Amino acid sequence: MTEVRTTCPYCGVGCGVIARVDGRGTVNVRGDPQHPANLGRLCSKGAALGQTVDLVGRRLHPEVNGERCDWDGALASVADGFRRVLSEHGPGAVAFYVSGQLLTEAYYVANKLMKGFIGTANIDTNSRLCMSSAVAAHKRAFGADLVPCAYEDLERANLIVLAGSNLAWCHPVLYQRIAQAKRRTPERRVVVIDPRRTATCELADLHLALAPGSDAGLFNGLLAYLKDAGRVGRRFVEAHTEGAGAALEAARASAPDVASVARQCGLPAADVAAFFRWFAEEPRAVTLFSQGINQSSSGTDKGNAIINCHLLTGRIGRPGAGPFSITGQPNAMGGREVGALANQLASHLELDEPRHRALVQGFWGAPRLADRPGRRAVELFDAIERGEIRAVWVMGTNPVVSLPEADRARAALAGCELVVVSDCMRHTDTTAVADVLLPALTWGERDGTVTNSERCISRQRPFLPPPGEARADWWSICEVAKRMGFEEAFTYEGPHQIFDEHARLSALAGGAFDIGALAGGSAQDYEALRPVQWPVPRGGQGAGRARLFRDGRFATPDGRARLVPVVPRPPAHRVDDRFPLALNTGRVRDHWHTLTRTAKSPRLAAHTPEPYVELHPRDARRAGVGGGELARVSSAWGAVLVRVRVGAAQRPGSVFVPMHWSDIHSAQARIGAAVNAALDPVSGQPESKHTPVRVEPWPAAWHGLVLSRRRLDMGAMDYWTCERGPGLWLYHVAGRHPPADWHAAARALLCRSERQVNWVEYADTGTGLYRAARLTGARLESCILIESRYPAAGRDRVLDLFRRDVLSAQERAVLLSGQGCDAGEGSVLCACAGVTRGAIEKAVREGRAASVQELGVRFGAGANCGSCVPELQHLLAIHAER
Ligand code: SF4
Repeated sequence: MTEVRTTCPYCGVGCGVIARVDGRGTVNVRGDPQHPANLGRLCSKGAALGQTVDLVGRRLHPEVNGERCDWDGALASVADGFRRVLSEHGPGAVAFYVSGQLLTEAYYVANKLMKGFIGTANIDTNSRLCMSSAVAAHKRAFGADLVPCAYEDLERANLIVLAGSNLAWCHPVLYQRIAQAKRRTPERRVVVIDPRRTATCELADLHLALAPGSDAGLFNGLLAYLKDAGRVGRRFVEAHTEGAGAALEAARASAPDVASVARQCGLPAADVAAFFRWFAEEPRAVTLFSQGINQSSSGTDKGNAIINCHLLTGRIGRPGAGPFSITGQPNAMGGREVGALANQLASHLELDEPRHRALVQGFWGAPRLADRPGRRAVELFDAIERGEIRAVWVMGTNPVVSLPEADRARAALAGCELVVVSDCMRHTDTTAVADVLLPALTWGERDGTVTNSERCISRQRPFLPPPGEARADWWSICEVAKRMGFEEAFTYEGPHQIFDEHARLSALAGGAFDIGALAGGSAQDYEALRPVQWPVPRGGQGAGRARLFRDGRFATPDGRARLVPVVPRPPAHRVDDRFPLALNTGRVRDHWHTLTRTAKSPRLAAHTPEPYVELHPRDARRAGVGGGELARVSSAWGAVLVRVRVGAAQRPGSVFVPMHWSDIHSAQARIGAAVNAALDPVSGQPESKHTPVRVEPWPAAWHGLVLSRRRLDMGAMDYWTCERGPGLWLYHVAGRHPPADWHAAARALLCRSERQVNWVEYADTGTGLYRAARLTGARLESCILIESRYPAAGRDRVLDLFRRDVLSAQERAVLLSGQGCDAGEGSVLCACAGVTRGAIEKAVREGRAASVQELGVRFGAGANCGSCVPELQHLLAIHAER
């Protein structure tokens, strides 16, 4: 039995995890009580990490042009291919597209190879899609990409403003920290600014369900109000800022008073007034902002509109005060530190600053340092589409799913001369268009560091052996670099030497990002590295710093922060008669990115088994769709086919679709294909929160479930999505027209060949019922349950039958007739205890539980990680209202 301290691979909270591996290789995890990010807590995703470490679906060896080959051959193909394109078309024709999932050491060498040795800045990261507007806003306001706050500020603030953040689902442990602080001090206020009523609103004293895209007007209005209310931090503003006058003028021009703000944001004036008053009166105020602010064609301005309010009041650099951008990914911050955005150099140095370029070039001994910014994510794929970029290396990300206008990204890659993909999974939508596939290590196997949203550097430590021929990303990048002739600069004994170089460069750079005190350590020091918040400069105490700007000095040339005048702009594409609804995309509670990891966990998959579109009842009526039906959501760029949810949590006029489903897990639910690629002109971040769409009914003639112990090829079925059950795959299926022969269709789906199989079936053409099962001996191997209505009955009962080694005659009869099978209890609400929504609703209805505590005692729901508590509270509140 071994125990290893490591860091969760999911969101930007960066929780510490203790992983325990027993003699049979079973992995159990618990929160690390010593890690400052979570102090022992984990959310549902973190708590289920042990279910995601199997080797099912893993890529275990390199491939070139569809043929297995050894590492030598694969690395030579990459190096030769890049060299050929470089010699024929120059450095502008090659690119890396990397990821906030990479560890800092891999990020560092990828950036070094591309910017310093290949000589172009065509390296960008998927973090561009997530938080680059916050980076740009920080740089404009503070002179560098600096996050002023620490998580403890959320517990020390008396007013917490959550702008564009569904914290309860996307950063659950931070939500739990705030919830606990609020339980301790109930007068502490929380304001949620979000067009949707999300789970986070369970904590809110005030929810501002503003019109999509109107955030800048709201914060401009707040800025003007603060001035009028005499809340300007005069001494701070005079001593430490520039631009307050111009910012106030712009704010007043666009949002002069509460009434005008209420009008443009579509909010009750009393709610706007309450928010402004609370903010004005409370010096300890933190504004936490996330993708709802960043993923906009004016995301940078929105970030600055928020920061302006904190600068005008001097609420920054003090305990419990400041603007706080939270990153989506586990190492988005690490990428920012090493310069993996196309417009940055390593250690927060600037590409367009000759002194910075000379410093980095000298430090690296680089032959040709890029001298201008490279292409940013969406523009990089545009350049591939035009044939200007001819060789690209994609690492640890799935752009065919996650980029806006994702079908174009797929076509661009399909037409590209050389596409190299490093991934830990065998099949993704992006590996399908790769020429060279490199097997990467993943969580539990990787060795390196990550930085979370509060600048805390933590170790990810391995506790599992590398499977097959999979190797670390830093290693494959360095091996390609060596084969391209850069042996000397890319010879490292291990990630500790890369980290050391990164730390030394930060000290030399002399900026706010300084981790010089961590340089010069041995491999043992690196192994023992404890979580630490940068800066950690040489000569300091080595303990890091919780918050920045305590002395009022910023990273601008004159040391003063800048208030930036903001002129609010509407989203790039407006809704119209053809596309009358605004599409908002985002995360669900228990899934992560494109499902490659979380979909392995039956317990996580059960919370949201199918992709969906959520509409307000008014919009559902207008669109002619009802809850549980299927609907087509289409934009000018693409379309998806998803299940309908109807709820008043959705603001009228806008709809929500989760971002997670790919073509590997569904027939047509890759929402990136429908999202417009309008970009913020400053940051290059796409507007993933606003695409005009329409929703149309998709009348299905039949619905059903397919369960199988092996993964099935769903072929050209109209609608299917895949969910992992315990030891099996579970498919939700539907079709516009029934097949001519159900028997033949079911056999083709469930049987690999026409060999004799133990096959039983039942059909009732009158009711549209068809049920069939394939058995091995008396053991159920797979089955198909078709009905004319949704949901097909019997899911829970049939799942139970898969647990048996022998089916009795009576159980076969139940399986085929469906008798004794009810419609099931719906999706799982508490992933840890496996308790369904239906079971909880029933207990509340019958008066067997009336509080979260009682649900915990009765079912164990909400008693472990706490991620489901906001949903339990919501359910109890709905019942209380009835
Ligand atoms: Fe992982 Fe959850 Fe912590 Fe995020 S909040 S780092 S997903 S355990």
